[in-house]
Amino acid sequence: MKTKIILPLLIITTIYLSSCQQNSSTQASETADSTSIEQLNTGITESNNDQTHTNTSGKIASAAEILARPQVPILCYHQVRNWTASDGKMGKDYIVPIAEFKSQMKMLADSGYQTILPDQLYSYLAYGTKLPKKPIMLTFDDTKLDQYTAAIPELKKYGFKAVFYIMTVSLGKPNYMSKAQVKELSEAGHVIGSHTYDHQNVKKYQGDDWLTQIEKPTKTLKEITGKDVKYFAYPFGLWNKEAIPELKKRGFTSAFILAEKRDENDPLFTIRRIIASGYWNTKTLHNSIVKSF
Ligand SMILES: [Zn+2]
Repeated sequence: MKTKIILPLLIITTIYLSSCQQNSSTQASETADSTSIEQLNTGITESNNDQTHTNTSGKIASAAEILARPQVPILCYHQVRNWTASDGKMGKDYIVPIAEFKSQMKMLADSGYQTILPDQLYSYLAYGTKLPKKPIMLTFDDTKLDQYTAAIPELKKYGFKAVFYIMTVSLGKPNYMSKAQVKELSEAGHVIGSHTYDHQNVKKYQGDDWLTQIEKPTKTLKEITGKDVKYFAYPFGLWNKEAIPELKKRGFTSAFILAEKRDENDPLFTIRRIIASGYWNTKTLHNSIVKSF
């Protein structure tokens, strides 16, 4: 569709026409490997059409509209390293061995998944903006150094971008990322989100806890990256209704839970993720992606 055009007017017309065509074009039916994914794509196309109105008025979708949109699969990783003798049975759930992680990223790329970032997810949920055909979001919690040393090289292979939810207490400690590494991730196009100061349960906050756990860490992350911090992951995935207005007040636009049910009034502050268990193989991961969202 590339035409050589000299006149600026024609250029504008061409841009306008191609964007219209993009919006109205039906997505070519790709051989999807599951019904759910096909449904997801169909849903996205439909909600995109709906959205023409919403975008025009600039009005955010209602909670019911957001809940009705197909969910984008979001994976939550913690550590990417080989198991050691001292890793407990429970702990291994949070530790994905390196070869397995490599295989998982390859599977996602081979299956046609494209990573999206929270700004895109927000725009899709709030305004119905179109997403890639097989969207997925990768998130990494808790600031572990192996996310930088072992996961990032694999993401790079496939052009994947991810979200890193940082606990600021750990920055620069042994086996955790440094401020410079977090800055580097941000500059490479990954997103830095908040995961509190030291992983305290949000449901128990009172008094100065909001300052210590949320406000100060957010300021620190903003100083490191030079960017606003708009996304929050609840420690342990635990949240309550009282926390949501507190997060909104402090500039967050979305918050992420784990696999539980979303809040019916505030789905943007209860976006679901699944933990990619260290016990799963690539096939199990794929099945979970398809079944859980
Ligand atoms: Zn965590």
